[in-house]
Amino acid sequence: MQAIMNTYGRLPVTFTSGQGSWLTDTDGRRYLDALSGIAVCGLGHAHPAVTRAIQEQAETLIHTSNLYGVGRQQELAEALVNVSGMDNVFFSNSGAEANEAAIKIARKFGHQKGIHEPVIIVMTKAFHGRTIATLTATGNAKAQEGFGPLLSGFIRVPFTDLNTLTAVVKSNPNVVAVMLEPVQGEGGLATASNEYLQGVRALCDSNDLLMLVDEIQTGNGRTGTYFCYQQCGFMPDVVTTAKGLGNGVPIGACLARGRAAEILQPGNHGSTYGGNPLACAAGVAVVNTIVNENLTDNAAKMGQYLRDQFTARLAGKEQLVSIRGRGLMVGLVINQDCPQLMAAALDKGLLLNVTAGNVVRLLPPLNLTQTDADQIVEIVSQLIEALN
Ligand SMILES: *Cc1c(COP(=O)(O)O)cnc(C)c1O
Repeated sequence: MQAIMNTYGRLPVTFTSGQGSWLTDTDGRRYLDALSGIAVCGLGHAHPAVTRAIQEQAETLIHTSNLYGVGRQQELAEALVNVSGMDNVFFSNSGAEANEAAIKIARKFGHQKGIHEPVIIVMTKAFHGRTIATLTATGNAKAQEGFGPLLSGFIRVPFTDLNTLTAVVKSNPNVVAVMLEPVQGEGGLATASNEYLQGVRALCDSNDLLMLVDEIQTGNGRTGTYFCYQQCGFMPDVVTTAKGLGNGVPIGACLARGRAAEILQPGNHGSTYGGNPLACAAGVAVVNTIVNENLTDNAAKMGQYLRDQFTARLAGKEQLVSIRGRGLMVGLVINQDCPQLMAAALDKGLLLNVTAGNVVRLLPPLNLTQTDADQIVEIVSQLIEALN
């Protein structure tokens, strides 16, 4: 019997250290990391600003609980409010927990206006987490199988289909919120257009609904702006983030605006660890580094570079159907299922991921260099060309 519960199919490699976009395994072999621990290490591995921040914080104070003021938490909240245009923040330890807070805000918003069976509209192929509420919101029957009964209070509609969404809103007076990802990171990199997102915003406004945007993967510079909605021409009522916020130190955040920011009151919600000094010290270092080093611009620029290079390099190859995503969320849609490419890329010294069966997902660090981008294009193109 293995000591670790069998919840992951793992590739046969173990890393011992990292530096920037590169990892080293137990045999001393180096790998180019085009996945960043699933969009977590946006600044790359062992970034000195994060290392210094958590070292200094560990020597000073790690945790006191939310029964008291937490200086670093205040600092990170202000930094996030500044970069987002939102009003306030609740801190959690993971993405799923950030979404739990968002779901609770939406439900209480409903109760406050007399809707006692509140419904949140969610999307096909959405991924919102693995807790029971976020699993219910997730649009993946395989992930849900065996864990019923799931929760009531969620209705699913096709992603990017504004007509169906509108019809459901009009026909159901219990709807209180719409929850979606601007780019579906786990669901195959399906990407909402600005027009669609603005349409959802207008629908929410005209029907007194909250718009909850899950930026757990798209946030923290990944798509070329600090949050993805900032390039889409609308403001959410609630936005959640996690992955890239701590560069590997576990942290999540639920940001709210306007009346959504007033809903949770003392006693309504909490987390023992959430927003502790250590995690928030990492978060402050991450936000400041993204802003000061203008990594959002590099993410936009290198994302475009990767798209251009793949388009040129794989022109006329029938294996490549399309390229999706925004910024440094790059999804190469392949004309066949190709989960074997993860192991094949590892053999060539490259870390990538395949999601939704046939979408090669690249999430390299935001400070990716052109030399490393060229190497990603070369290896991935070879792998795709070798498919028949
Ligand atoms: C990863 C992810 C989550 C869940 O985050 P955890 O930290 O694994 O709980 C939720 N939503 C999106 C869009 C994600 O990418």
